[in-house]
Amino acid sequence: MSEEKIIRTAVVTGGSRGIGRAVCVQLARQGCNVVVNYCHGEAAAAETVALCSAAGANAVAVQADVSTAEGCKALFEQAVNTFGQVDILVNNAGITRDNLILRMTEADFDAVLNANLKGAFLCCKEAARRMVRQRWGRIINLSSVVALRGNAGQANYAASKAGLIGLTKSLARELASRNVTVNAVAPGFIETDMTAALPEAVRAEMAKGIPAGRAGRPEDVANAVAFFAAEQSSYLTGQVLCADGGMAM
Ligand code: NAP
Repeated sequence: MSEEKIIRTAVVTGGSRGIGRAVCVQLARQGCNVVVNYCHGEAAAAETVALCSAAGANAVAVQADVSTAEGCKALFEQAVNTFGQVDILVNNAGITRDNLILRMTEADFDAVLNANLKGAFLCCKEAARRMVRQRWGRIINLSSVVALRGNAGQANYAASKAGLIGLTKSLARELASRNVTVNAVAPGFIETDMTAALPEAVRAEMAKGIPAGRAGRPEDVANAVAFFAAEQSSYLTGQVLCADGGMAM
């Protein structure tokens, strides 16, 4: 007798491009319904939805600014209205406002903390309420190797990504007994719009410090996220997995 396959619903914040898009497509391939959240990139989000549909999944794009409580509330309401529940949350949305500390403004600091850390906190709150009730959930937060090593010019970004590790471990402890796991993936240097903005010399210098000898692809990170999202990963919680070609070890 064949076991009936459970269809899980995943919300991926910042799913319109880069790593978030690759995560959406990977989860779609694994048979999940996918909610592709975006902030500004409506056309890009529609492309991600089309890629998920081509992979055989049901997918929908939802505009929401996750740095606001109203945005997160609306995102989850729309996800539940469309698919009935939320089983997997991937907190991927993120921004940078790089500068050395002497030039970094308070606004730069707040913008990054609000999008990267507060946004994840707000989405975790929305997700946890529902996951605890259904006694099943997977939360995966996108941190960074700079959370572990620091990076000159990224005090705000590194602080937000280190904060995500504290959030991950605390929620892992709070939610473990309800069959809700909370883990973090820490990417190294990945080819996306975020890193394309760096000068070529900086990119070449960074690539030298990667034992794998190349920058990562969004798919390299998506595989790690999908690993934590899988049914079989129920005994893994509070972990930080570096997807970095060996960069941070
Ligand atoms: P990216 O290409 O710059 O894409 C960022 C995504 O986040 C976009 O989909 C964007 O949506 C969304 N976003 C930003 N602010 C948002 C908000 N307030 N509400 C909702 N969505 C928002 O970035 P990426 O390189 O793929 O990075 C994805 C995640 O991995 C980030 O958390 C990043 O910090 C982390 N990471 C990346 C690297 C790397 O090397 N690339 C390394 C370590 C960690 P719109 O375009 O629709 O506005």
